[in-house]
Amino acid sequence: MPRPEERAVGTVLGSAVGDALGAPFEFGPEGAFSARFPVAGQGGEMCGGGGWDPGEATDDTQMAVLVGESLTDHDTLELPDIFSRFRRWAAADPKDIGLQTEAVLTGEDPWDLAAALHFQVSQRAAGNGALMRAATSAVYFARQGRDATMEAGRRIAALTHGDRAAWEGTAIFHELIRVALDGGDPVTAVPDVLAAVHPDHRARYAVVLADAWHPDQATAGGLGVPPRKHSNGAVWPCLGSALWAVRSTGSYEDAVRAAVDLGGDTDTVAAVTGGLAGALYGVDGIPGRWVAALHVPLPGFGGRVLRAAELVGLARRLAG
Ligand SMILES: [Mg+2]
Repeated sequence: MPRPEERAVGTVLGSAVGDALGAPFEFGPEGAFSARFPVAGQGGEMCGGGGWDPGEATDDTQMAVLVGESLTDHDTLELPDIFSRFRRWAAADPKDIGLQTEAVLTGEDPWDLAAALHFQVSQRAAGNGALMRAATSAVYFARQGRDATMEAGRRIAALTHGDRAAWEGTAIFHELIRVALDGGDPVTAVPDVLAAVHPDHRARYAVVLADAWHPDQATAGGLGVPPRKHSNGAVWPCLGSALWAVRSTGSYEDAVRAAVDLGGDTDTVAAVTGGLAGALYGVDGIPGRWVAALHVPLPGFGGRVLRAAELVGLARRLAG
């Protein structure tokens, strides 16, 4: 059984490693990863490509670091500060940035209105862009208990995503991580977690988090949209795919391999999967060869590039 600190470090590092592992396969077809790397444990998987260097983490981890550093600098949730860090980062032209996130962060509206105003106009804000960056905040708020960590997840998500579906998905992830950090099983905790989800969103999450759900059933939200392999960019199938990857495997390595192998939004599905699997198996479950290559550029912050050791330090401070 990993100790709590090993689980907290595993959450932050596991999410970052999943992000970097999945990045070269983004928008690719199902099965691309296992076709290239058929056997687990062989090495070379942190291969780079698609504009990413081997081990380079993407916007998912970059934003998670911004959230985490705001939390540790202030030792409380300062939403305007997180928003201003996001804006500074977005203005520095990161290699990748989600459409909704970019629209909200590059406008002129204040932190407490920008996402809501964007949602009013677009009516499309249920992407996975808030869920993807939640590993650090999930670690920080876990010690405050279920209601507090879920509410914090919602509020941080709402900085960039006006759709409550994105808030609830992030809240669920926060709570699943809290359960795992506590030594519990996030899969068997699902019914309890669903009971704490906003009633308007409970049924839809119940579908994608059910034991019988498989990513092949991914749709843009279960409203009769034809199943598409690449639809895991929406918050529901992204979270469902991550839980499926954890549920159907027995190690960190196999879980993130399964996540990347789904194709589509591979960096984000693997970042969410890696956070959960890292919390479950602890930092020692993450292959050292993947950790060694990991690095997180931070556009807008003086050319900073975090290595694994700095992420470990951040995770420890977040865990308190
Ligand atoms: Mg990304």
